[in-house]
Amino acid sequence: MTRPSLTERLARHSAERAQAGLLRRLRTIDHADGAWVHSAGRRLLAFCTNDYLGLAQHPTLVAALKKAADESGVGSGSAHLIGGHRREHAALEEALAEWTGRERALLFSTGYMANLGVMQALLQRDDLCVQDKLNHACLLDGAQLAGATLRRYPHADVDGAARQLASQGDAAALLATDGVFSMDGDIAPLGELAGLCRREGATFMVDDAHGLGVLGPQGEGSVTTAGLGQDDVPVLMATLGKALGCSGAFVAGSAALIEGLVQSARTYIYTTAMPPALAAATLAAVKLTLTEDWRREKLQALIARFRHGASQLGLPLMPSPTAIQPLLLGDAQTALDASKALEQQGFLVTAIRPPTVPQGKSRLRITLSAAHEEADVDRLLEALSRVAAPRPV
Ligand code: PMP
Repeated sequence: MTRPSLTERLARHSAERAQAGLLRRLRTIDHADGAWVHSAGRRLLAFCTNDYLGLAQHPTLVAALKKAADESGVGSGSAHLIGGHRREHAALEEALAEWTGRERALLFSTGYMANLGVMQALLQRDDLCVQDKLNHACLLDGAQLAGATLRRYPHADVDGAARQLASQGDAAALLATDGVFSMDGDIAPLGELAGLCRREGATFMVDDAHGLGVLGPQGEGSVTTAGLGQDDVPVLMATLGKALGCSGAFVAGSAALIEGLVQSARTYIYTTAMPPALAAATLAAVKLTLTEDWRREKLQALIARFRHGASQLGLPLMPSPTAIQPLLLGDAQTALDASKALEQQGFLVTAIRPPTVPQGKSRLRITLSAAHEEADVDRLLEALSRVAAPRPV
């Protein structure tokens, strides 16, 4: 029998990506220090991480991690339900529930796993899952894993969402959206979507990976900032590897929702609990995020400075009020060339290309952080004026 070889087929696919100029390249970072990274013998100023508040190397987090590791080692040893649930996890879950104004919170090892787990636990075959076209890949994958009918609506289009909900009038339905869109930086119309879900009897889920820590007076995120509570957004998910500078994720909601996830979410049940020392470091990060308002204020000032400078230069800004400030360059090669030219000038800014973003919408995904200084932003703008500004015709 001559079956096609799966590994050869995969290799062909990679070769096709290379030919189309879409090959993804892995880079090793030898050392990170605030907004600076060292790679291949060079020191580069990074404008591409999600460490929005500059906490990833904070000494308080490092000390909390070391102390907990000294006390109870590295690995949790097992899944939460098999003896891996330590007091560090419990304390972090309590703090996250309180911060987000929810009854309970549940930790997952990653955001990807959290979204897969929630969707698989909540949705059954023939249920309807309505999602923004630009939602993160793991929300889309989650609905497919659950076997639900996935219907996507045009980006941020509430009428489009209503039409998709009406397409299967009496099916149980989940409407899921990113709070802050990861590649565009804009904020979903959360109030209107919550109203739609209320009228239509759909459950509303928000993935606030890029809003938590950044938006709201105490970094409560996009949902609280939109004036919405647990009744409006019963399923809130956020990650711990971005503004909080650590790794992992959580889902917050009613006690009944969380208990349901403990019983049914396979990506919670069948996986090793995150290292307890990481939970201890994350708790330290939550406390700093709550108290150090200056980080959010500095970040907002840097965002305003960047947007002002970029618009003066005529750079192709997107309408984003958040730390994600992409420049829309169009075709993949243009974005890649701009990223390479920036690297030659000492900056690390990644080009985002299809299929992560739609064809013709390749971009430089510039992210700002409280770890940057005003002068860093000015230097980036100066480099961008050489690399990405419109040329006179
Ligand atoms: N949701 C969104 C909106 C994201 O941007 C990401 C990751 N970038 C995730 C979920 C996945 O989170 P994690 O990296 O913790 O798996």
